[in-house]
Amino acid sequence: MAGKESKRIVDPFRSDIFSTGIFQRPGRILIIDDDPDFNQTVADTLERENHNVFKATTGKSGLEMALADEPDLILLDIKLPDMAGFDICRELKAHPELRYVPIVLLTGIGGSDVHVQAIQSGANDFLSKPFSWPVFKARVSSLLKYRRAVASLRRARTELEQRVKDRTGELQSSNERLLESEERYALAARAANDGLWDWNLETDKVYFSPRWKSMIGCAEKDVGDLPTEWFRRVHPEDRDSLEAAIDSHTNGASDYLECEYRILYKDGTYRWMITRGLAIRNGENKATRMAGSQSDITVRKMAELQLLHNAFHDELTRLPNRALFLDRLQQTMKRMEGVEHYNLAVLHLDIDRFKIVNDSLGHMAGNQLLIEMGRRLRKCLQPLDTVARLGGDEFAILVENVNNLDDANQVAGVIHDVLKEPFKLRERDVFVTTSVGIVLGKKKYLKAEDLLRDSETAMHRAKAQGKARQETFHSGMHAQVLTVLHLENDLRRASHANEFLIYYQPIVCMKTGKLSAVESLIRWKHPERGIVSPGEFLPIAEETELITPMSLWVLRESCRQLKEWQDRFPKVAPFSVSVNLSGTTFTQPNLVAQVKDVLEQTRIPSGGLKIEITEGVLMGNIQAAITTLSQLKGMNVQLLVDDFGTGYSSLSYLHRLPIDVLKIDHSFVSNLDLGDKNLAIVKTIMALARNLELKVVAEGVETAHQLEVLREMNCDYAQGYLFARPGPAIEVEKWLTADKQWIPA
Ligand code: C2E
Ligand code: CA
Ligand code: CA
Repeated sequence: MAGKESKRIVDPFRSDIFSTGIFQRPGRILIIDDDPDFNQTVADTLERENHNVFKATTGKSGLEMALADEPDLILLDIKLPDMAGFDICRELKAHPELRYVPIVLLTGIGGSDVHVQAIQSGANDFLSKPFSWPVFKARVSSLLKYRRAVASLRRARTELEQRVKDRTGELQSSNERLLESEERYALAARAANDGLWDWNLETDKVYFSPRWKSMIGCAEKDVGDLPTEWFRRVHPEDRDSLEAAIDSHTNGASDYLECEYRILYKDGTYRWMITRGLAIRNGENKATRMAGSQSDITVRKMAELQLLHNAFHDELTRLPNRALFLDRLQQTMKRMEGVEHYNLAVLHLDIDRFKIVNDSLGHMAGNQLLIEMGRRLRKCLQPLDTVARLGGDEFAILVENVNNLDDANQVAGVIHDVLKEPFKLRERDVFVTTSVGIVLGKKKYLKAEDLLRDSETAMHRAKAQGKARQETFHSGMHAQVLTVLHLENDLRRASHANEFLIYYQPIVCMKTGKLSAVESLIRWKHPERGIVSPGEFLPIAEETELITPMSLWVLRESCRQLKEWQDRFPKVAPFSVSVNLSGTTFTQPNLVAQVKDVLEQTRIPSGGLKIEITEGVLMGNIQAAITTLSQLKGMNVQLLVDDFGTGYSSLSYLHRLPIDVLKIDHSFVSNLDLGDKNLAIVKTIMALARNLELKVVAEGVETAHQLEVLREMNCDYAQGYLFARPGPAIEVEKWLTADKQWIPA
């Protein structure tokens, strides 16, 4: 007996899970999927990581294999020839030996209801096919960790149960001797660190051993002999369960008492304890005393809680993950079921151009950005609101107490504001914007997944509308998203089919009235829709990174065309071509080399190329912009700031940029007729340009009056429908043939 007593329980968290190397241990993984090729690909991937893989192609054989050889992880297709994956999942989870084996359901692209069903069937996780291999490997590795932790806990629990049984036997066999005898403590106290208690149910007095008292930081005299000494110290949330466990044993419903609870330590903190006890009954089977032990399980409990925490939090930002977000959202929705008006909103955030930060500054900087992002979001919200990282550069926010759309928009506004401050990444100031989708909780939403899905749809809409903005979900959006998807596919096809062409619009010198340059503006010659404007397809091209090959094509083709014109019309005074570059293209690491290559190959005269970049892009990363602009300048490329006046241009930076021209945005020009305010703005821009020795182009000139006002202000160049709408190359050739005078001398 002494031998048994001294048998130490191995703390699973210290000796097993937290010891080094264990996480790398290979696992035994069962794949149940009827597609043999897919099975093989998954098996190959896992075997490269040293895992042992078993394959089954039917539900029945999968079940048999799982039962015969309890695997560490099961990957289960939802569509099998003989059984539905959900049913197999339920069957596996119902089996006591397999209950703790993690199951990942492999779904098709299905909607979120599939995922809900997956969770309801007891699956631990799901992956949509086709899946990203790095994500797949990370999930497998994390589920194997979970599996090992659970296995250790179960081992520990079995040992504990055995110990209680042993002790039960002991106590029963020496029932008589135990009565009133001090010996019982000596006997039981061999269980090392346990505190002991002995409760006389007839006198309602409890003996607490000195160890019991010291376990809660108390001295001998601090604790009296009433049961309340114990119960009043138990955490209010745990009191009921302890009392219920005691009742259940004293009235004979359970064989022994066992209960875990938090108890107040002298210093005001709570510690986790487990108590086990046995009642001693009189001839009428009424419990007259009860004696037992108390062990401190704080370390194990903390580790358990940590594991639980890890399963529901994002490792990098420490924010709740998607699973926890959905759970909280569902709970909030449930709470509001009876309420007349829902008062919650879900915001879905996606960082704009996160990939650029990652690619140009490295993953560490990308991670740093995500962490800081999470911190700022957390800081600007109410304690009740939940901020979660859904994965990648996506965040979700659950806002409670919103009464209407204005409230939700206001929260989004606050978020945009706190993100305006630059992020310090690798010693640089990086400016970041986000696209936000908003959805208000409405009665019609029953599932958290649906709300989250709609917020995501709205976020994609915000991206497509030009980023750095928020959009609220409405039911028409699903259709819009489908249109966008359709457009995206169409756009990919178009770039293979050479359906793009360039229109040119004259930029006129106000002094001479002659052509100074042509701006190249891309068009899509759609086989069914005819000419499509860039406003419709560029935002999508930008999203899908089709934009760079497109812009570089415009660059090359414009230069080639300029050279051809100059060779064919030698009598016309030299003019240049002005090409737009989007932010994505401008920040390409090899942009300068690409431009150099185009200049060399097309052999256009020096100064023949102008590049237009919007204010926002330049201000996004001033330091990088200066470097790139200087290198372009070194090749005698002229640089224009497009849409000037619309961005959040920091005037203090403007003089540091090696630029040549400001293009006043047409919104100021078109309103010149309307009144003094725009006049003042245009005048200010003119003065600023003079000061910095920059030239000015006024774009969007539509009326003779506007031109007159601009001329009075000594504006250098003008562009707009007043002269010509953008047109195909053949139009330009007509102007060149006539050597057209645009403004009468
Ligand atoms: P942007 O650079 O500001 O180009 C000027 C836009 O204003 C052009 O629209 C032009 O057709 C239009 N416009 C010109 N004169 C007038 C006028 O008098 N009144 C009015 N209301 N509009 C006028 P477009 O061609 O639809 O281009 C829209 C935007 O698409 C451009 O704005 C530019 O940011 C982008 N874009 C066009 N082509 C390219 C390209 O090849 N590459 C890149 N990256 N962006 C391009
Ligand atoms: Ca432009
Ligand atoms: Ca412009």
